[in-house]
Amino acid sequence: MTIYIKNARIIDPANRRDEFGDILIHNGIIAKKQQDLVRKADRVIDAAGLFAIPGLVDMHVHLRDPGQTHKEDIFSGSIAAAFGGITTVAAMPNTEPVVDNLQTIQYILNKAQNAAVRILPVGAMTMGLKGEELSDFESLHKAGAVAFSDDGRPVENTKIMLEALKLAQSLNVPILSHCEDLYLSNGIINESDISLRHSIPGTPTAAEDAATARDVALAASAGCSIHICHVSTKTSLDIIKAAKSAGVRVTCETAPHYFAFSDQCLESMDADYRMNPPLRGEEHRIAVVNAIKDGTIDVIATDHAPHTDEEKSDFIKAPNGVIGMQTSLASAYTCLVKPGDISINRLIELMSVNPAKILNLPYGTLSEGAPADVVLFDPGIDWTVEKDRLPGKSHNTPFKGKKLSGKVVMTICGGRIVYEE
Ligand SMILES: [Zn+2]
Ligand SMILES: [Zn+2]
Repeated sequence: MTIYIKNARIIDPANRRDEFGDILIHNGIIAKKQQDLVRKADRVIDAAGLFAIPGLVDMHVHLRDPGQTHKEDIFSGSIAAAFGGITTVAAMPNTEPVVDNLQTIQYILNKAQNAAVRILPVGAMTMGLKGEELSDFESLHKAGAVAFSDDGRPVENTKIMLEALKLAQSLNVPILSHCEDLYLSNGIINESDISLRHSIPGTPTAAEDAATARDVALAASAGCSIHICHVSTKTSLDIIKAAKSAGVRVTCETAPHYFAFSDQCLESMDADYRMNPPLRGEEHRIAVVNAIKDGTIDVIATDHAPHTDEEKSDFIKAPNGVIGMQTSLASAYTCLVKPGDISINRLIELMSVNPAKILNLPYGTLSEGAPADVVLFDPGIDWTVEKDRLPGKSHNTPFKGKKLSGKVVMTICGGRIVYEE
């Protein structure tokens, strides 16, 4: 298949490119422009008015497969990803069974062959996510695990966490750390005036901050790198910023809900605003935006966490988590680029270039010879998120009813058109 995209604004921060031009896709890769191939192209797309950007890499996704495929599965999740402009998904290992063994890695990779986008497994850091015994990093990595994480839970035992960092370092594979002190996090929302007024158990920001401080200290002492998941608080960002400037090899991500919303949304008692870590106060939301602007935050990932309407119907009993892949680019464009906080180029670094780099993947670029992961994004479309019309099996989005600016109109993964508006 040969696809010729013309007149696009090509935004390719990996090559410091932002210019109007054409992209030729041939045999799954981005090809050098050759007139004979252009003439014979199967598809010619006039992309005037559109941004052509590298496919997004979402390094934090829960696909619920195997085990909870009524919420999502590898295929439905890949369709949701393609709709959002995501061409590479790192799938977290807290499935049933947990991804701590070769058979489950193989199951995911087999099923991923029929998915719309690339699905890459993250291996469990510890057996059964119990935090007691490290999994076999070397064989899981050889089989295809692109990172290791116990996400959903912290590794409580400090010694085991340190061993994991050292082992991962020796294999040059990242550790993605869910920072939460379980002694402090007994709540279901942020501890604040809202939790007190409604007598809902609250989790203090210290539950996140204490765990972030510990993991950064471990990485610093061992000279290892670490990636901190879903940062939501000002103090955690201050810790990470100070560590970075001291030369500690720490990277971190946040998710769109942490810069789009504050805990005021929980007045509605709607469980579609409940996730872990919880939405924080406005000062933390602003700190997240500032950390995106100043470079403390490296990545915007979604922590896409599907749950059924039924599970989310009871505010108190509902499980934590919200979906996000369908709206991440549009919500980030709306909240960060449109008001002028960051450029579209910086947004593509956060959502494509940097996650590819952290995961050691050859994506996040529109270089000639690179895999043809190309997204066409129309910054001129305003649309309202209708949750039941989003692809994917679950609809627990906090962006429901929100008006977003900018929409993915085409997603090309490895030279194949996998979504078209
Ligand atoms: Zn987590
Ligand atoms: Zn997660």
